[in-house]
Amino acid sequence: MSKLRIATTSLAGCFGCHMSFLDMDERLVEFLEHVEFDRSPLNDIKNCGPCDIGLVEGGLCNGDNVHVLREFRANCRVLIAVGACAINGGVPAMRNHFDLSACLEESYLNGIGVENPQIPYDAELPLLLDKVHPIHEVVRVDYYLPGCPPSPEEFMSVLGDLLEGREPVLPKKLLHYD
Ligand code: SF4
Repeated sequence: MSKLRIATTSLAGCFGCHMSFLDMDERLVEFLEHVEFDRSPLNDIKNCGPCDIGLVEGGLCNGDNVHVLREFRANCRVLIAVGACAINGGVPAMRNHFDLSACLEESYLNGIGVENPQIPYDAELPLLLDKVHPIHEVVRVDYYLPGCPPSPEEFMSVLGDLLEGREPVLPKKLLHYD
């Protein structure tokens, strides 16, 4: 049986969803007998190629996030929004209550302990979006894996279903949003 190819990325995420994925611990060994990784923070592949599954952690807070998300959607047969941030913006979307300029000024000009105050500007830096967005506002999403982060058991349940060719059904006992 050929292996399923999986890509993963963290957009405006904290990498906690990836850490929870790795919390499968020794169960990862058996998992890796059935899957191989495309672009992921876990390896050095720079661009996402054709894949079976894309796992997207984090919402969208800058232009680079949007670019990467579109790359994933174009290449992944099944795209999964992983965690609260990808699903509804999560905690980073709390900045949506403020003007972006106020956030930048507080962080880089007026914040406690700021030295040499200046707002970073360089063409290499991705431009921040005015608001943080969930990923479904930009691309079609096939499945949502809730939690902040989803538990390793949730990853195993959904990925196990997809590996077996079944429609993923998350058991109620694994469903949580915190
Ligand atoms: S959902 Fe939670 S754990 Fe996952 S990236 Fe967002 S803040 Fe981190």
